[in-house]
Amino acid sequence: MSTEISKEVICPGCGARVAARMWTGINAEVNPNLRAEVLDETLFDWKCPQCGHEATLAYPCLYHDKGRRFMVYVLPQEPDEQKAAGIAAQFPQLRGVRKRVTGSLASLKEKILLFEDGLDDRAVELVKLLVALVLERSSGKRVTQGLYVSGDEERERIGFLFSLEGEEQPVHRVTSFSAYHKASAIVEFLLPPDGGDFLLVDESFARRLFERYRTGRDERQEEQPEDQAAEQAEGEEQAESTDRRE
Ligand SMILES: [Zn+2]
Repeated sequence: MSTEISKEVICPGCGARVAARMWTGINAEVNPNLRAEVLDETLFDWKCPQCGHEATLAYPCLYHDKGRRFMVYVLPQEPDEQKAAGIAAQFPQLRGVRKRVTGSLASLKEKILLFEDGLDDRAVELVKLLVALVLERSSGKRVTQGLYVSGDEERERIGFLFSLEGEEQPVHRVTSFSAYHKASAIVEFLLPPDGGDFLLVDESFARRLFERYRTGRDERQEEQPEDQAAEQAEGEEQAESTDRRE
């Protein structure tokens, strides 16, 4: 079951005290409509019944897809693994379920898309980081945000949408799916099995993982899969239209 609460909010438009509905728990299978609202990025939209003022509410929300065995805890502006750990402790039966904590609805949407595509976000973040580094080098601009949009193993492609500093339109970049397989191998080699604690899997996570891999590689003096992945990303970098997946 999904959990809906009602809370009094003060409208920033007219100052009226009005009740607002908030979904603090979402069961994706029971309420596919709420899943759709996340993917539309309208879940947190709110409209004042008194004056029509529209705003975005930000509140903690736990998204759970039992069938696909993942849950994402949205803690707006303050994604905190410690805070999320309390939730995991309440549900010992959730061992073996991928658990994530995130700070935004956009990131929740990204997690849903990639988990539904059967991908591991830890490996996807690593690929995204490498593609972003290549893009920064070629454009001379800083990447301010990157989001997974599509993975297609049959077409051998994995795609991201990047926002660049000073640019209004996001740019779409795709790279070979083999980069994802290589990243998965690195994840399996360096990280414990998934499904334990809540993890904050974001760009910093990918940077730490990349650094750890690089340090380990220098020590091992072995093959360099992430360099190959970066080269591949560079070689196949294509300026495609911004066909954002809805
Ligand atoms: Zn109002």
